[in-house]
Amino acid sequence: MGEFELIRRYFASHAEVRGDVALGIGDDCALLVPPCDGAQLAVSIDTLVEGTHFLPGTRPDYLAQRLLGAAVSDLAAMAARPAWFTLALTLPEASPEWLEPFSKALAERALELDIALIGGDTTRGPLTLSVQVHGWVEPERALKRSGAREGDLILVSGTLGDSRAGLQTLLDEEPEQASNAWLRRRFYRPEPRIALARALASQLHSGIDISDGLLADLGHIARSSGLGACIELERLPLSDQLLAYAGLEQAQRWALNGGEDFELCLTAAPERLESCLRSAEELGVRLSCIGRMQPGKEVQLLVQGQARAFDSAGYDHFGETQ
Ligand code: ADP
Ligand code: MG
Repeated sequence: MGEFELIRRYFASHAEVRGDVALGIGDDCALLVPPCDGAQLAVSIDTLVEGTHFLPGTRPDYLAQRLLGAAVSDLAAMAARPAWFTLALTLPEASPEWLEPFSKALAERALELDIALIGGDTTRGPLTLSVQVHGWVEPERALKRSGAREGDLILVSGTLGDSRAGLQTLLDEEPEQASNAWLRRRFYRPEPRIALARALASQLHSGIDISDGLLADLGHIARSSGLGACIELERLPLSDQLLAYAGLEQAQRWALNGGEDFELCLTAAPERLESCLRSAEELGVRLSCIGRMQPGKEVQLLVQGQARAFDSAGYDHFGETQ
């Protein structure tokens, strides 16, 4: 199968057609129609390399879901609405057994996330997947990392640490079973919090999606905003599934440092809390207040009301009093 046959069979025919795509896959460029509402274009790219970001032999449908979910999560983190994406595929071989489930899952997930494939690039080499996403956001609604204010409450969506636990079940080569299915799904199938971000954006001061771990990503908000932050260990949202799998201490460690949660970490003035919680409840998304932005430079962790210091490699030091 040649490159053009591959593109035609697996990508051009699967791509959704929508009104803002004047010309889709097949020409030198896609031609796209911007909305006329003064919105800004939000653009982000994400790459997965076999052996670095995923284990060799990972199911292609899972890869598609993870690739697109992680990329669209960056749009959610800006409160942008998804529009289009391009796909750069580097494949060791053109195998229908791989391409068929990959392209099918990608198309399904794209439809669910309301984002359309409009082009890409296909090359031969070690398995590497790259997606660039495009979305639109009203300038005054864009959730920058730098917008947090002193006294803001720190909110997080969903539950934290599940994805890291799902990864652990894979690293431990546990067979797929009912008890690990939910955690694995949290790893393979990130759920970008677009609806939540769009609903809350006008009430928020800053936001980021949690890809490197809560401490690291909240650290980005703190640094960009010229502030410190303080979070309470007991307030971290943990799922029952994670607690059952890992126990409280490991669950807390993974919630702080696990990474790839793709939940949102947001800040808002205290008087906005009630309204934010109400909106989240209406959307059926858990939203938890875990701390506060404060003067200073570090992210501080309170354990039963006592400040505990840690360095940026906090993972290993967590649990020791320093
Ligand atoms: P060019 O050589 O002009 O860059 P290509 O031959 O690489 O174009 O690609 C032909 C068309 O197929 C282009 O419209 C491109 O966007 C699209 N395309 C290539 N690879 C992919 C892919 N993996 N997924 C979706 N579209 C793709
Ligand atoms: Mg060309």
